[in-house]
Amino acid sequence: MHCIGCGAVIQTEDKDGLGYLPAGALKKKLENGDELYCQRCFRLRHYNEIAPTSLTDEDFLALLREIGQHDALIVNVVDIFDFNGSLISSLHRLTGNNDVLMVANKRDVLPKSLKVGKLTAWLREQAANYGLKPKDILVTSAKNQDDVEQLMEAIEHYRRGRDVYVVGVTNVGKSTLINAIIKNASGADDEVITTSRFPGTTLDKIEIPLDRDTALIDTPGIIHRGQMAHYLAPEDLKYVSPRKEIKPKTYQLNPEQTLFFGGLGRFDFISGERQGMTAYFDNELNIHRTKLEGATEFYEKHKGELLAPALVNAKLVRKEFSVKEKSDIVFNGLGWVRVPERAVVAAWVPEGVDIVMRKALI
Ligand code: GDP
Repeated sequence: MHCIGCGAVIQTEDKDGLGYLPAGALKKKLENGDELYCQRCFRLRHYNEIAPTSLTDEDFLALLREIGQHDALIVNVVDIFDFNGSLISSLHRLTGNNDVLMVANKRDVLPKSLKVGKLTAWLREQAANYGLKPKDILVTSAKNQDDVEQLMEAIEHYRRGRDVYVVGVTNVGKSTLINAIIKNASGADDEVITTSRFPGTTLDKIEIPLDRDTALIDTPGIIHRGQMAHYLAPEDLKYVSPRKEIKPKTYQLNPEQTLFFGGLGRFDFISGERQGMTAYFDNELNIHRTKLEGATEFYEKHKGELLAPALVNAKLVRKEFSVKEKSDIVFNGLGWVRVPERAVVAAWVPEGVDIVMRKALI
């Protein structure tokens, strides 16, 4: 008899061992013809019943320090679509000498034409700007079976018999990836760990046995305050978790023109030559072009209607950039606009969400 969650042989003797199920529970399940889960996997399955909590910044840093005390492989999952918003710049400082495998997830959202080699080089350069030097960077989509297998191989390769801690801020797809790993390893059809569009629902540290002595440990994410998701109504979270490949939209813009991204963000082309600016956002997010003059009044009048979706409890604040070379102006988590050459632009995002300028990805 095997646990259908983790594949371990079901046993009733060793409470701390793999596949443990109390004898009474085993008897009952066999009588009812229920599927057999070991106690550990049973708890994972009933994750949903625990009231959602999230880690505070302090707790998260303490968690990283705790991991630093173990000789382990750290798998840091980040979201390529919200790359700047999902990096943990204190990772190396707090986790000491442990190797880090960076997993850049949600590859399926980016245009297919973007080559993995180029993407990885760009990711490495960007990570280095934040002081991050991962041992390796793996580009994945949790929705792609081959990617999940490749990830499992990479983990096996880099862990060298050690425990594996999976860390990441909320919403990067960590639970989805871990579920896919479990499914892959065990052949189970059910989702074992809760995944959700709601940031901050991964709750406790959970261990998934890798072999007799070591485990893959899923850790709670931190709610990153700079994430756009916190200023959206639940039904609008789809805009920050695109499900399909993004179709870039290029606008030939004259100076003094403005683009609105629903009611969630705004981009002003202030001065420079007329040029094509490319917007990378969820395909369903309505982009509206208007004149810079009067744009603020226009926003106040039309937010939530023509400019939908609306923000929840937040207002847009402005940051100006002088673009010298091909750059992305990033609305953390929502998307970005590629500005090809010299221009002065302004970006508006909800107060508290970061806006950054970076070397163009594409
Ligand atoms: P966690 O908070 O890091 O555990 O994130 P979840 O696993 O709950 O995922 C957050 C959202 O991203 C969910 O809506 C997932 O369906 C979605 N997601 C996860 N992985 C991928 C991926 O590789 N591609 C895409 N397009 N969406 C993903």
